[in-house]
Amino acid sequence: MPAEPTRVTGMDVTVGDSGQRMLALMRETFDLPRSLTGDGVRGTLAAVARSVPVEVTEVPSGTRVFDWTVPPEWRVREAHVTAPDGTRVVDAAASPLHLLGYSVPVRQTLSREALLPNLHGLADRPAATPYRTSYWEPRWGFCLPQRDIDALGDGDYAVLIDTELDPEGSMTVGEIVVPGVTSEEVLISTPVCHPGLANDNLSGVAVLAELGRLLHAAGPLRRTHRILFSPGTIGPLWWLHDNLSRLDRVHAGLAVMCAGDPGPITYRRTRDGNQTVDRAMALVLADHETGADIRPFLPWGGDERQYNSPGFRLPIGALTRTPPGEYPENHTSDDDMSLVSAEALTDTLRVILDTIAVLEHDERPVSINPHGEPQLGRRGLTNRRGGEKGNQHEMAMLWVLNLADGDHSLMDCADRSGLPFDVIRSAADDLRAAGLLRS
Ligand code: ZN
Repeated sequence: MPAEPTRVTGMDVTVGDSGQRMLALMRETFDLPRSLTGDGVRGTLAAVARSVPVEVTEVPSGTRVFDWTVPPEWRVREAHVTAPDGTRVVDAAASPLHLLGYSVPVRQTLSREALLPNLHGLADRPAATPYRTSYWEPRWGFCLPQRDIDALGDGDYAVLIDTELDPEGSMTVGEIVVPGVTSEEVLISTPVCHPGLANDNLSGVAVLAELGRLLHAAGPLRRTHRILFSPGTIGPLWWLHDNLSRLDRVHAGLAVMCAGDPGPITYRRTRDGNQTVDRAMALVLADHETGADIRPFLPWGGDERQYNSPGFRLPIGALTRTPPGEYPENHTSDDDMSLVSAEALTDTLRVILDTIAVLEHDERPVSINPHGEPQLGRRGLTNRRGGEKGNQHEMAMLWVLNLADGDHSLMDCADRSGLPFDVIRSAADDLRAAGLLRS
């Protein structure tokens, strides 16, 4: 049953059929052979571009990026192993997970013993296929269920890997840019390099594609919102390298992945721990219905590792549901579409939109009447709403008026008062309308 459309407070955004849209994008692109380079990433970005404009950049293989080099473009035409009796032991045509990522070309007949070191299974999940790559070391291999490996009999096996590592190729990166009215930017990024897995990383791609579509439709925001889809590690590093002279524009950001599983929202703070995005996220998650886990920075995980390097120190935190490495299906074929739901994807999307709304509306107001409390009753600002909401609203006005010295922000008011940011924001709106505040 589709969830009721809900409006994001303080933004012209309504989340209606987003859950089904995100699932549809994931189903459509699930089997594409994503990797650091190649047509899998291109096809995924082309699917995103059917609902929102995507600026695609092809970064030539061999491009130096800090301590790294953009790898050759990897293309797979055919890859399989044939048993002595002529049956296919494993075939990349069935799933892109079956071929070790970046496998070099091979055409050879091997004994079972010689083949085994190149076959990867999982002893503790014998029915699942693991996800493995060898991006930076020339190797070849196949990934398949351990029970299939254990069932291989003696004899000669024919290995065919028809791949190409093209030094003249490129790495594909996509950006959705929603222009704002100031030069400040919010950067939201997700990896787009894993094939044949749902939660890691396709769910992040789906959530950010839908985020881009909604922000585009919302009309101009205060800041430019830039959504980056790029292969893990080398992708964000290329973006940082390419934008080195403009990094001070980044006001806040999120590295998003593992966005659709049933686990609760997990937020990892920035390296410095108390940036604007950390405070906005804490306010949003403080009364999140399904609970949330806020943790300190860790130099392990997703794109945030690069953004929080000492040479950049960008104010970018990490948003996931269950973090990578903490759910048993991670990097196995069991991370399939059954692990993700429209509800969880929508919940992650809502948290991002709510955080953007807090960042958009945060300001440092100045009281026009700073000598004591202004008479609120005379201006019709008291007793306008009944019950607890009304009390909260009046308390929020007093907090905003008291802290409206130009040094304190609305987030400070929310922190100091313990009141929800939306209540503070609406109190500030009323005070401004009554001529008591200026921005
Ligand atoms: Zn991963």
